[in-house]
Amino acid sequence: MKSIEQIAAELQGYDPQAISAERVNDFLARLVEPVTATEDLGVFDALGRVLAQDVVSPISVPPHDNSAMDGFAFDSGQLRPDEPLGLRVAGTAFAGKAWAGTVGAGECLKIMTGAIMPPGLDTVVPLEFVKAEGDRVVVPPNVVSAGDNRRLLGEDLMAGEAALRQGQTLGPAALGLLASLGLPTVKVFRRVKVAYFSTGDEILSLGETPREGAVYDSNRYTVFGLLTRLGVEVVDMGVVRDEPAELEAAFRTAALKADAIITSGGVSMGEADHTKAMMKQLGDVAFWRIAMRPGRPMAVGRIDEAGKSAVLFGLPGNPVAVMVTFLAFVRPALQRLMGASPSEPVLLQARSGEALRKKPGRTEYQRGIVTRAPDGALSVRTTGNQGSGVLSSMVEANGLIVLHHGQGNVAVGDPVDVMMFDGAI
Ligand code: AMP
Ligand code: MG
Repeated sequence: MKSIEQIAAELQGYDPQAISAERVNDFLARLVEPVTATEDLGVFDALGRVLAQDVVSPISVPPHDNSAMDGFAFDSGQLRPDEPLGLRVAGTAFAGKAWAGTVGAGECLKIMTGAIMPPGLDTVVPLEFVKAEGDRVVVPPNVVSAGDNRRLLGEDLMAGEAALRQGQTLGPAALGLLASLGLPTVKVFRRVKVAYFSTGDEILSLGETPREGAVYDSNRYTVFGLLTRLGVEVVDMGVVRDEPAELEAAFRTAALKADAIITSGGVSMGEADHTKAMMKQLGDVAFWRIAMRPGRPMAVGRIDEAGKSAVLFGLPGNPVAVMVTFLAFVRPALQRLMGASPSEPVLLQARSGEALRKKPGRTEYQRGIVTRAPDGALSVRTTGNQGSGVLSSMVEANGLIVLHHGQGNVAVGDPVDVMMFDGAI
């Protein structure tokens, strides 16, 4: 495990007072070490979990050449251009049962979708294309060519081929694939636990009576949602008052219980509270001013308790800043912790529907609404007020317009990058 000092020394030109957004991810990739423990789970239970081994297909899928249509299977060597082909029906093959007979020259086999194609037959003419009379069918000229409507053995996966890779997050398609290989269980990394608490004396928990200057805690709920969508186990620690003994107890408990700790509030420059002091006292922590908007202040590091170590993400307090820093930095770092292979989010490019003011030298994330313009191109407009406390705009948005570090003002019609929420929010 590397200390903050060691990582800082590895990164050329690292300046905690003006760290770029890209740098933050470099830093976190060095700070966070993936979990190693694994467990074997049934396929249903593995949804959203990270695969801990490559999965090699034990069988070929499909296991036989089979028909892709209901129709008549025959040897395409008998087809002649522009000529009909008359065939005698030798029998019927159903899915799930091998057909035992033989099909000779001038013959075909009535075949159902999924039924095994007997040797020597390579083509299926769909039922609706042929004229049938008694046990005779006529394949009209030029309706099928050799190999049509036949699924080949192993065309999905061949036995011995890598079906899934370690580090893949198992989604619905992967669950189906595992099942198609006949694998009842799968080895995944153990579930990561993330403890979260909100800080600040002005923060009210739900159910508390409103008082002057106080606001209801929203971060606890957005972070809960973001973590749950990510597939980690959430340890909800509520709101912790700005009081050293309470903060100390909370940090120690969190470090003991969880692999990562997320807090919000109390990390900005002018803070008179005890959160930062306690992080400094209990952990190895860097305090950053990130060249970004929203979400400039952030603390990262590690807190150890009773031989256990937890990664710390001290997020800013403003509700939008919490969500943006989570998406930009915490989410990829936690994916790494979960054992998932790094995957850069695919940014879409959209035409800006409005002029955007932007200073080079910081990354800006603006809440955007992406739609398709009448000409078919993607177009994006902002939700308006980009205040870092305006949570309603996060609800309205379907993505974040990412104005990169070096980028300047954007004119109407200029292309901009957008990070779509895509199920993360
Ligand atoms: P701070 O970073 O502690 O200075 O907080 C910045 C702003 O975010 C202040 O206006 C806080 O009241 C607000 N804030 C901090 N924590 C929360 C929270 N959990 N829920 C809603 N607003 C918060
Ligand atoms: Mg505060």
